[in-house]
Amino acid sequence: MESNSDIKTTPKGFQCTLCNVNLPNLPSLEQHVKGRKHQTLSTVRHSRKTQEEHSVFVSGIKPEVSQTELAEYFQKFGSVADVIMDKDKGLYAIVQFSEKESIQATLSCVEHQMKGLKLRIKPREKKEFKLIPKKSDSDKQVLDRLKPQLCQLVSVDAQMQFVVERFQLGENEKKTRGLLVQLLQEVFVEFFPDSQIVPFGSSVNTFGVHSCDLDLFLDLEKTKMFQAHAKFTTEPEKGEGMSDDGHSEDSILSDIDLSTASPAEVLDLVSMILKRCVPSVHKVNVVSSARLPVVKFHHRELNLQGDITLNNRLAVRNTRFLQLCSGIEDRLRPLVYTIRYWAKQKQLAGNPSGAGPLLNNYALTLLIIFYLQNCEPPVLSTVDQLKDMACEEEECVIEGWNCTFPTQPIAVPISKNTQSLSTLLSGFFSFYAKFDFAGSVISVREGRTFPITDFLSKNKDEEATKEPSRIHHHSPKLGPLNLLDPFELSHNVAGNLNDRTQRCFQKECQEAEKYCRSLQYQRKSTKGKSWGLVRLFTPHGEVPHTKVEKLTISVPFKSALLPEALRNQLHAAGDGFRLLWFQKVCAAVESVLKNVLRCHVTPPTNFSTDSEDWAVKAAEEMETTSSSLSTSLNDSYDSVESQNEASPAGTAVVGAKRPLSPDIDTSVSPQGKKQRLTRRGKPKLPAWTCLQRHMVWAGRRKVRRELIKDPDMRPEGSCVQVESRVTAHIIEKEPELKEPLEFKVEPQVVGETESTKAVLHLEPTSDNAGLFNNFFHFLDAFLPKMVETLLQNETGAV
Ligand code: ATP
Ligand code: MG
Repeated sequence: MESNSDIKTTPKGFQCTLCNVNLPNLPSLEQHVKGRKHQTLSTVRHSRKTQEEHSVFVSGIKPEVSQTELAEYFQKFGSVADVIMDKDKGLYAIVQFSEKESIQATLSCVEHQMKGLKLRIKPREKKEFKLIPKKSDSDKQVLDRLKPQLCQLVSVDAQMQFVVERFQLGENEKKTRGLLVQLLQEVFVEFFPDSQIVPFGSSVNTFGVHSCDLDLFLDLEKTKMFQAHAKFTTEPEKGEGMSDDGHSEDSILSDIDLSTASPAEVLDLVSMILKRCVPSVHKVNVVSSARLPVVKFHHRELNLQGDITLNNRLAVRNTRFLQLCSGIEDRLRPLVYTIRYWAKQKQLAGNPSGAGPLLNNYALTLLIIFYLQNCEPPVLSTVDQLKDMACEEEECVIEGWNCTFPTQPIAVPISKNTQSLSTLLSGFFSFYAKFDFAGSVISVREGRTFPITDFLSKNKDEEATKEPSRIHHHSPKLGPLNLLDPFELSHNVAGNLNDRTQRCFQKECQEAEKYCRSLQYQRKSTKGKSWGLVRLFTPHGEVPHTKVEKLTISVPFKSALLPEALRNQLHAAGDGFRLLWFQKVCAAVESVLKNVLRCHVTPPTNFSTDSEDWAVKAAEEMETTSSSLSTSLNDSYDSVESQNEASPAGTAVVGAKRPLSPDIDTSVSPQGKKQRLTRRGKPKLPAWTCLQRHMVWAGRRKVRRELIKDPDMRPEGSCVQVESRVTAHIIEKEPELKEPLEFKVEPQVVGETESTKAVLHLEPTSDNAGLFNNFFHFLDAFLPKMVETLLQNETGAV
């Protein structure tokens, strides 16, 4: 590779100082240097440098001096390419020449006089080109300041209370937000008579943090009535000044009929009003593609992001619900603030740009509420119970959804649960560490889960009549995490999550649960070390790793995505469904490695996943070697559990009823503890040995994009075929690796009390070029998706 001053060698590989990234090996470095980010930054740096070398800094001007006047004045020293004025005050400018020589000519002139002003000219400062530090850097500063403050407190409960104090919206912030709402109200009512601006979301739901956005609902219901009334009463004298109640008919309203206008049209008007009439508001954007179209804006002075939506009565109501929960239960706020901050640090929640595959804070808060409804005894009542506590005047139905609950917390009896904050926090982690996300739909309304199969049935009408609160309107969009809104029951509030986020959420809960069982969590360090919440808040990469990361890839069991025929087959298999499903997964994994990624795959001796008996033989093997098949795992786990003193009583353990690999590592427990069963001298379950001769993962996205774009090349058919073509293309174009990458894949099935999943243990057996890590990260995302696709096309014969 050509020499590049941006690249430094480090003990762990390379560092690109321009992009501020670390690369583990030469191939990934080469890939990075050719990549879009590096190329763009190089180009930007080059053009900045050229600008600097061609321009001078001019001060001593006045706001009335125009760009053209300046250009004309400097023209006498050389051709002027551009003049950039400071936007706010117009007191200085940068004049850019076409030729470098013009700078010398300008600087050598002793006095610059223009329109009676004495201009001062300086050469441009040479600034080192640097990436603007990411937001996470300032997050890091926040955490660095928070750590010692937390460490000196006496208990985890005190730390949690401190987190609330530290992050909650202050009184002044609430006041300024209130003033902005008032100002917007005054402006909007001018254009939309009788309209109302209603704040909702974290600014008012008692869970707001310093930088949280300001969510506003523009209620135009009364404006519509006003308009209808005005149309009716003023029709004959149209255009004659003022209406009866003094509203100007010359308003924007005369241009739009709210009864027929689309939300996008109304939002365009809203955006225009914001731009023209509200001081300090800028960056106004209409986002019509969102689930609920929204106008986004930024308030410069308050440094505040605002969102205005229409038709959002349900969100206003669920905000009231969260307020009520806070009022009923004092422990909720410390829990929510702590868990929100933990989730942010672990990059599980908070979708920075609004949309994204992470949990949003509303969904995360509902997960906390659901957990509290399921504590023993419950900390919070279910929404259905709250409904029954409300009086007649409090009845509320929005868009057909029952949103009734008491207005005042006093109407709700105090919980009998007296657990401390720290116990509830660790309980939250254990609860979700072993939660069956794949098989359940969470209902905060009823405070329980439903089996996912309840939502797969075609005959919804029939069910709806049986349980009207459950299935209403249409079914929710199912995904890796199914969390029904407590009011809009057909809405999965976590429908935006992808598999990865769901898996990471559960993995982080398992990690946190394990940590919460340590003394480091429970007791203040007498030696001034980090303890309690501090370790929980430490982002990835900063927690010292004591052991090598285990390279496992999980393929979750997702009944919802399987074709009808396969679902029926699994249903018929009864208890043995896991085994049958696992067999299909194994065949699909082998097919992806062999046919899609073109690995040379050596199947386990005497077994072939092409033949139906692969998994069956594995099970038979188990049957003859293990003492009792039907009880094998549960018994073994019991004995492991009973030896495990640190494990809290009552925590469920994982395990398949029919594990395929009872004598090797079974699975990772919900507590994150590896459960090792006693070896009984049985042979290990065979693994595939794979050989990869090409970097089929490198630049894959780009090749795919190009293949799909090119009409001659466009591969027809399923995405499996597309991916196979992508691999073929890479193999054709890129040279073979000098030393092929060799690795082992050992499959295993887990399930029962935990989500059913197939776990693939990967291990490099020959990797002299240090490529395995990159390949593994690619496979981690690619393999489960491909297997899922193959299973969806499953016709019975894999
Ligand atoms: P923050 O802005 O601090 O992230 P928030 O609670 O304000 O937290 P937003 O994403 O701004 O979260 O959403 C504002 C409000 O809109 C939420 O409080 C909730 O009332 C409602 N809301 C958000 N997402 C959903 C959703 N998926 N389903 C139903 N209501 C939602
Ligand atoms: Mg918000």
